[in-house]
Amino acid sequence: MRIMILTLALLAGAPGCDNDADQWWKGNTHTHTLWSDGDAAPELAAAWYRDNGYHFLVLSDHNILSRDEKWFPILDLPRSRLTSERVDDLIARFGEERVETREVEGKREMRLRTLEELREDFEQPGAFLFIEGEEITDQFNRLPVHINGLNLAELIKPQGGESVVDVMQRNLDAVIAHGHAHDRTTLAHVNHPNFGWGVSVEDIARLRGEQFFEIYNGHRSVRNHGDADHAGTEEMWDLALTKRLTELDLGPLYGLATDDAHNYHEVPEGHSNPGRGWIMVRAESLDAEAILNAMHRGDFYASSGVVLDAIKSDDHHLTIHIRAEPDVAYTTRFLGTRRVGDADGDGQPDLGIVGEILDETMANPATYTFAGDEVYVRAVIISSKVHPNPFAKGDREMAWVQPVVIHGQAGDSTSP
Ligand SMILES: [Zn+2]
Ligand SMILES: [Zn+2]
Repeated sequence: MRIMILTLALLAGAPGCDNDADQWWKGNTHTHTLWSDGDAAPELAAAWYRDNGYHFLVLSDHNILSRDEKWFPILDLPRSRLTSERVDDLIARFGEERVETREVEGKREMRLRTLEELREDFEQPGAFLFIEGEEITDQFNRLPVHINGLNLAELIKPQGGESVVDVMQRNLDAVIAHGHAHDRTTLAHVNHPNFGWGVSVEDIARLRGEQFFEIYNGHRSVRNHGDADHAGTEEMWDLALTKRLTELDLGPLYGLATDDAHNYHEVPEGHSNPGRGWIMVRAESLDAEAILNAMHRGDFYASSGVVLDAIKSDDHHLTIHIRAEPDVAYTTRFLGTRRVGDADGDGQPDLGIVGEILDETMANPATYTFAGDEVYVRAVIISSKVHPNPFAKGDREMAWVQPVVIHGQAGDSTSP
């Protein structure tokens, strides 16, 4: 009898940890406030996320933590981010004792609430958590390289470097070293690679020590879908995954969805509003260590609207249970790159189409059976529902499941 020998080793991190005590926690790891270039007072941003069903939030301002004393000018001008009307709204909503203003040389200012103060007002065990973080905002020859550092004990300055990949790696290394120095779990993710066409797929493929990038970012300028000359982030994911897992001997790359929200006051097209993209993390408890450890294991998915009840994988299958809304249809697409024999006889398997659609189904649960020749398999779920406040017009609500890495291949040897 010929038996297919499948040695599918799911890397630590593949979706599939099966502890039923774990829960899904909804979070956004990338947003801005008046501490840098966002238009919301930090308490307004925090309240938006708490009131919209999020469990955790990272206020990730550019090269600054929400610490110490910072006063923001109150200006009644057309493009002002803090007007006296907005200050009055803050007083009405959060109380006079939480809105501190002063006048310096005839100019009014408001003191920005610190994360420490926000924690007191918003954090609730098991319900809402802040993870302290920063968008380390760096560049190389004007190409933007932005990395979010999560669970930091203090500010990390942009590290600079000799090339885009060097700048990226130095900043990732700084976050990793920071975690070691402060004896805490940190996490760094590479943001919006196509913003300013800053970070190429070659750069993303080469990141070491960390393994996260934004597959979806809600900011209007980030070009998630690429253009005629540049791959979109979906295609980048497949190209980078294939290169990492076959050529570079690096681990998988995990995808996040984030808001990168800057605009809390208007909701017209073209602004960068909260609520567009988030992650769901499966962890035993709502604390920074548990959340980030689960992410390091790959036990999370990215979403722009589609909610999943379960993601299960074993040696043979990847199964996704979708929390279906009435009258909404879901298409689940399984993608991956196959090893297709060794035509040139160099001992290295040749590769099929990169990011090939291996299967597509409208079933729920959606199940894919591994053939064994895949390098990895990932899934994307596309809803029939149009996103209510999309990154780009016509975007559907989606979810992105992390790749399952498959080692070994279908052998044709006989087994006793
Ligand atoms: Zn950025
Ligand atoms: Zn940002």
